[in-house]
Order: sequence, then C-alpha cells, then structure tokens
Amino acid sequence: MAFLPRNGCLTRRFASSSRRTLCSHTPGRYASSPPAAAGHHSAKYGGVFDAPPPREGGSKKKTSPLSALPTSSLIRGLLINSISSKPWLLGPAVSVISFLSRPNRAFLFDVNRNKALAKVVKGTVYRQFCAGEDGNEVKQTIKSFERMGFHGTIMTYAKEIVFDSSTKVTHGLGAEENTDPAKAQCPLIEAWREGVCETIDMLGKNDQLAIKKHRITGAGPSITEALLAGKQLPKQMWAALLEVGNRCKRRGIRILIDAESYVYQGSILEVGLDLMREFNRDGQALVFSTYQAYLKSTTSAVAAHLETALKEQFTLGIKLVRGAYLAMEERSLIHDTKADTDEAYNTIAHGAVKRKFGRIGEEGPGKFPSVNLLLCSHNKESVFSTYALHQQRLRDGLPTVPVGFAQLQGMTDELSLGLLHVGDLEGTRPEVYKCSTWGTVTECLGYLTRRALENRDAAGRTMDEYVALKAEARRRIAAFFFLGSRPKGGLAPK
Ligand SMILES: Cc1cc2nc3c(=O)[nH]c(=O)nc-3n(C[C@H](O)[C@H](O)[C@H](O)COP(=O)(O)OP(=O)(O)OC[C@H]3O[C@@H](n4cnc5c(N)ncnc54)[C@H](O)[C@@H]3O)c2cc1C
Repeated sequence: MAFLPRNGCLTRRFASSSRRTLCSHTPGRYASSPPAAAGHHSAKYGGVFDAPPPREGGSKKKTSPLSALPTSSLIRGLLINSISSKPWLLGPAVSVISFLSRPNRAFLFDVNRNKALAKVVKGTVYRQFCAGEDGNEVKQTIKSFERMGFHGTIMTYAKEIVFDSSTKVTHGLGAEENTDPAKAQCPLIEAWREGVCETIDMLGKNDQLAIKKHRITGAGPSITEALLAGKQLPKQMWAALLEVGNRCKRRGIRILIDAESYVYQGSILEVGLDLMREFNRDGQALVFSTYQAYLKSTTSAVAAHLETALKEQFTLGIKLVRGAYLAMEERSLIHDTKADTDEAYNTIAHGAVKRKFGRIGEEGPGKFPSVNLLLCSHNKESVFSTYALHQQRLRDGLPTVPVGFAQLQGMTDELSLGLLHVGDLEGTRPEVYKCSTWGTVTECLGYLTRRALENRDAAGRTMDEYVALKAEARRRIAAFFFLGSRPKGGLAPK
C-alpha cells in the first residue's frame, strides 16, 4: 500500500512482513522548519524497516532502533511479549491481573498487603507499563525516556475515584467519605486538583499532562450530571481546571484531555474547547482534546471544531486516537469495520497535515485554522504515513501543522524508537513521546488490566514486537561475544 500522494515516494508496507520501504526524502527540522534538498535511495536499517540513507547533517549510525532500549527494558519486554504473543499464555495472564485488581481479595492475592506478591508484580508488568510509585521513581523514568531520545513524557495519575451510587459513598484519592453535592466545596474536586497538581510537579518542560475527566465523574452527582446533561461544570471544578492550566502554562507543560465513554464525550469536548479558548491564544496549543476516530460522529466533530477555531482565532489541539471503549460503547456509534476506523483516522491525520479537511482549507492556507496535531497510535501504517506526508510537505515548501507522536510505555518500542531512528537518519528529530501512568502498584492494577487486554486484541502487533526484541537481543549477544564490542544499550541490567 502506498501512503503518500502520487508525487510522494513512500512505498513501504508496515502491516505485512514483506519487504518494507520508507523513502521520504525530507531533511530539515521536524515541526515547521524549511526542508533542504536531497536525493533519496533505498537502504535497509536495523532490520526494522527500509528507509533512505542519512542526509547531510543526519546521523551515519546504522544501529538498530531498539539499540536505544536499556537492557533491563529489553529483557522485561522479551518476557512480557513472550507471554503476550501466545494466546494460551496471555488469556490466563489477563485473568490473573484482572483478578488481582478486584477489591477485597484474601491476603494471599491482595497486592496491598502481600508484599511478596507486590514485589513480583512491580518487577514485571508494573515496571513494563508504569512510571513509578512516587515522585522519585517517576522522575527516573522520565529521565530514562529522555536518554533514549524521546522529546518528553506524557504522564497521568492512575488512581481512580469510584462513586458508589447505591451507598452515595466515594472511594479514592484519600476521600473515603460521603459526598454531599449541595456542599459549596466538594472534597473530591479538591482531591482531584491536588492529585493533578502533584503530577504537574513531577514533570519537566517538554512533558505533557494527561487528565481524565471520568476520574472526577466519580466525584458524585455534581460533575457526572453536569457532563451528562451538557450543563456548565461547577465553579469549583472550572476554577481547578484554570489553576491547572495556569500552572502548566508557566511550566511549558501541555495538557491532554483524554477521551472517554461516549456519554460524557460531547461535554468533555466542549470543556476542551473552552480551555483552548482560554489557553491556546498565542499560536500554539497548550490544551489538546482527544478525538476518537472509531466514532462515526468524530469526522464531523473535527470539522466543526476546525471552523470554531478558525472563527474564534485559537489553536485547535488535536490528540487523535482510534478509541479504547469498543467493548463498552453502543456498537452503532462506532464504525462498522476496523478498516472504516483506520480510514477515518488517516483522513483526519492527513487532512490536518495538508491543512485541508472537507471544505475547510479549500480556499488556501489562510482559511485553515492554527492546529497542533498529536498522533497517539501504535499503528505503524498511520504513524509512518503521516510522518512521511508531513516531511514531504516540508520538503516541498507546502504549508503544514506541527505534528507529534505518542505511544504508551512498554508498547511498540520498535515503532517509537523507529521513528526517532528514521528522524536521526534524515537529520530531523520527530517529537516522539512515551505516555505513562504513575501510582502505587494497587492503584495501577486497573490500568495494567487494560494494557493486557489491548495486547490480547492486537496479537499480530505483539508478535511483531516480540520478533523485533528477539532480533535485538541476538544482535547484542553477537556484538558482545563475537565482535568484541560492547553493544549500545549495554548488557548489564539497569
Ligand atoms: C498515547 C496514547 C493515548 C491514548 N489516549 C486515549 C484516550 O484518551 N481515549 C481513548 O479512548 N483511547 C486512548 N488511547 C487508546 C487508543 O484509542 C487505542 O485504543 C489504541 O491505541 C489502539 O489503537 P491504535 O491506533 O494504536 O492501533 P490499532 O491496533 O490499529 O487499532 C485498534 C483500534 O481500532 C479500533 N477497532 C478495532 N476493531 C474495530 C472494529 N471491528 N470496528 C471499528 N473499529 C475497530 C478500536 O478503536 C481499537 O482500539 C490512547 C493511546 C495512546 C497510544
């Protein structure tokens, strides 16, 4: 499948195991710098995918993309993927994690009380997918991503507030108390604000804060009802959001508002627009809303928001995902097939990059609003086709928008590091982020269950990742024993 427009030169097949060729010949800086001229050839890099040779100013190194992975991560990745790539092992593994995540377990299965069990979980799946239990551990994880070449880390707090509508009792964020929605100051909104501010304090300049509003729909009727009915948020919540926005603005940290279940999504997008009106006024996005391509309604929502941003002169921050609630949503709301979701995703991503989406932008670049795009996906086809299209437009001197890419910690390292690797070879540095979650082992069990389920639903990709990790392990062993050179990434566990 060719991903670029007719005049493009990207002819790789990411999805299949057959010969893969990426031949975007765009040098220059990543986001919006003018490209320099260069020819292109075809050469194989690192056994992961084919790419053009290094451009002038680009790196001449021909190491594998996964060579940037610390050895401890490589070993853990091999262990986890050896299980994830075998359905007969993954099924029981998912059941075990899901079982452990349920409340009121007997001592033996209670990660909170059984320290030996907590240690095993922490040393394996927790370390693979989570950033840490406290500020120190989280900062170390962020540093290790920096060392690997990532532009930054997207961080979110795992702990969820659960509102029991039958007892009117809320659990979470240390606010185990009855919640009276009539009270002027809701302790749960305050607890939410404190949790988010604690996360901000762990982040550095290029990092991003992911916030989930459903964490506070559990804060009792005040927020849930407001979001469901499309009513204004309580003043206290709006004040908390403004405080979070101002803190992030001072620190240069971008805010990503996660997408959730459809019933809340319309209101969450409206809140996102309000925050963008407030904070996205200086030509770039501080606030991003998440658009779920699997929803049939998303294409028109994006078009409407582009028009609003154009009319009201703010930057639209688009965080594009396919959507994670397939099993829970009403099926008729979602595209009928995976291919339809893929097409919607690529249409939005490519439309933003080309600054032409439906009838918006037809009359020239001036008629397209300022947009910042963050592609959150593990799908190689979507990621590399958008990357190549963006590079091609820079090379051709055509208008485009700044683009970033993000994958979850512990997943598709071959893709994340592959993007950085291609960027190095081309003398560019794509903005690639790792998205992670922090919290105690117990707090992260729900998140870990979702990761296990996602791996189960993406068996082919997990197998590809496993094959790539095995190849990298073989490369390091060969380099160490036969070539006498110490491989990049080292052999000693870190
Ligand atoms: C950094 C990051 C942040 C994220 N944030 C959010 C978020 O805020 N909200 C959210 O909902 N998700 C979020 N996700 C998850 C995302 O929505 C996807 O579930 C996940 O990334 C898998 O999709 P993919 O693009 O990586 O790849 P793929 O594996 O190519 O796509 C899988 C996805 O395709 C869709 N799909 C699968 N089968 C069908 C079918 N039969 N018909 C129609 N569609 C189908 C589903 O959305 C499924 O998740 C995030 C993902 C990342 C990497």
